[in-house]
Amino acid sequence: MASTAPAERLNEVKERIARAAALARRSPDEVTLIAVSKTHPPEAIAPLIESGQRVFGENRVQEAQAKWPELRERFPDIGLHLIGQLQSNKADEAVVLFDAIHSVDRLSLVTALGKAMDKAGRRPACFIQVNIGDEPQKGGCAVSEVEALVAACRAAGLPLAGLMCIPPADVEPAPYFALLSKLARRHGVSGISMGMSSDYETAVTVGATHVRVGTALFGERS
Ligand SMILES: *Cc1c(COP(=O)(O)O)cnc(C)c1O
Repeated sequence: MASTAPAERLNEVKERIARAAALARRSPDEVTLIAVSKTHPPEAIAPLIESGQRVFGENRVQEAQAKWPELRERFPDIGLHLIGQLQSNKADEAVVLFDAIHSVDRLSLVTALGKAMDKAGRRPACFIQVNIGDEPQKGGCAVSEVEALVAACRAAGLPLAGLMCIPPADVEPAPYFALLSKLARRHGVSGISMGMSSDYETAVTVGATHVRVGTALFGERS
């Protein structure tokens, strides 16, 4: 896969998204492809940008700070999404750097992000991460906590864009994706961030508005 040109890999992923959307009678324009560039150097990222990709995902604040300011000088219209866990003490830096944050999962972080946004005068879109399979080791709030977190985000003035999940590994993901879609509808949020390289087509058929794809675009991470 790594021997294929980035432009070809990008086209392949976009075609698969379009086919999955068509199956579900959705427009492919409803789905934002987030190219997950974590661990990959700027030299690997630039060809994808030159092929037209504009939205990227990183999972660590520090790594993104090291990689993106220079790339963004060359390509000012990039959208950068934080898809990994965020510590409250990094909220200021995250709010300055990212256009969206997919890992809002607890009240203390909602408070920290609200303060950071007031201070920076910048309000990245926020997704509440839900621990959809109720796994002890996973990030995300419990399904039972979604309602309280939605309310807290709204009260703190966070622009609530949607919900995000990472389903349990090695089991059929569709039921978990369907549950996240249902939770999003129930709580009146339109964004649904779900689906990775192995399951983004399934995610699109059950309502994903944002898919986070790394390996299928960049090849395996070392
Ligand atoms: C790394 C990562 C992805 C992308 O995973 P791939 O399997 O490489 O597509 C998506 N979402 C999150 C939260 C990640 O950490």
